[in-house]
Amino acid sequence: MPELPEVETVKRTLTELIVGKQVADVIITLPRIIQRPSDLEEFRQQLLGTTIQRIERRGKFLKIYFDGWVLVSHLRMEGKYRVEDASEPPAKHTHVRFRFSDRSELRYLDVRQFGTMHLFKAGEEETSKPLDRLGPEPLTKAFTLENFRSRMVKRKTNIKALLLNQSFVAGLGNIYVDEALHHAKIHPERGVATLSEEEQEKLYDSIQSTIKKAIAVGGSSVRSYVDGNGEMGMFQLQIQVYGRKEEPCYQCGTPITRTVVAGRGTHYCSNCQKV
Ligand SMILES: [Zn+2]
Repeated sequence: MPELPEVETVKRTLTELIVGKQVADVIITLPRIIQRPSDLEEFRQQLLGTTIQRIERRGKFLKIYFDGWVLVSHLRMEGKYRVEDASEPPAKHTHVRFRFSDRSELRYLDVRQFGTMHLFKAGEEETSKPLDRLGPEPLTKAFTLENFRSRMVKRKTNIKALLLNQSFVAGLGNIYVDEALHHAKIHPERGVATLSEEEQEKLYDSIQSTIKKAIAVGGSSVRSYVDGNGEMGMFQLQIQVYGRKEEPCYQCGTPITRTVVAGRGTHYCSNCQKV
């Protein structure tokens, strides 16, 4: 599932490919991807003739700005975008197509069909579902150590569950939570209240450095997101624990443990991350 760094990479790639293009048509073949408005023809009419101004990201959501409107798009498990010529037959699992006046198309593909799109008047998106409950962006000034610490107080959950909670911090998912916890040497099942001030600070720094590194690597594999086979790259080169069950920890050689925390497959080093 794409997390903050992958969505940021999609944002940067699409910015290069579609900003400035004018919408000539919208073709929807799987209505339930469009969550707002409920009337598909209204969705189409609101975008016809508009030009894409810019693309932003909030947490794991893409925000595509058209004249006066913003499309909030979540890729969920396997959603992806491609930009192709309108004359090319759409690949299987293509559900929404934005045709541009230059005969290219932005195509949304989603094998699992869990992805969503919400269309808002620009400016109304931040105070409406699904963006209204998102916590701070980890790479912005809003995400301060003081704020991070103060919002941990009285949390009765474990640290992995808290970091997965999008209202606590936006954009982290299973992979980067495991990676940040390993980097900070904190066991994923630790109660939030048991973290020392030193550990809180280490974790705060680890979240930011993990995300930054992943974005930096993503920048070099940009093209794979929107053309070719469209596969998502998860920046395997620098993954320390996620998906490495029984492989040696790069820090100490101890085999990586896989368990389930907060209902999610979780990887950690039992030596570097003691309970
Ligand atoms: Zn280790």
